[in-house]
Amino acid sequence: MEHLWAPWRMTYIGSGDKKDDGCIFCAKAAENRDEENLLLYRGAHCFVIMNLYPYNNGHLMIAPYAHVPTIEELDATVLADIMITAQRCLSALRGAMHPDGYNMGINQGAVAGAGIADHVHLHIVPRWNGDTNFMPVLGNTKVMPDYLNNTYHQLLPFFQAAPEDKDAQGQ
Ligand SMILES: [Zn+2]
Repeated sequence: MEHLWAPWRMTYIGSGDKKDDGCIFCAKAAENRDEENLLLYRGAHCFVIMNLYPYNNGHLMIAPYAHVPTIEELDATVLADIMITAQRCLSALRGAMHPDGYNMGINQGAVAGAGIADHVHLHIVPRWNGDTNFMPVLGNTKVMPDYLNNTYHQLLPFFQAAPEDKDAQGQ
């Protein structure tokens, strides 16, 4: 299983975007420039943001608005909202990008590979058959902004659609 989890350890490691004086999840949620921040969706208790250092195209993260390090500190309402939002992410990814599968997971604590250990978040990584060559080509490069921006606009309409439209959108 190592190969499934190890890539997430790269999230934000060595990132110049991580400010010492703050949490990027809290900062981006508080800001009002979702497009620049690649913030795709704001739910009642959590939001969806793209990973700046994706393991694969369409690598999303769901974070609660609450700045807590562990899901143990989230109540049932927030936990449910995160999973409902995960459904929404899968639906959007399916509609826009047609993945063959997904990796979903939470790294809790720096030792487990959390790049931002103070603010728990759920990774959703779409997978395609034969996508193992993605990282050498696109991973950890600074060519990403345009690429990420394209993906953002590919996914955004699916997050803006009403949930009941998701099946129609996904066909
Ligand atoms: Zn935070």
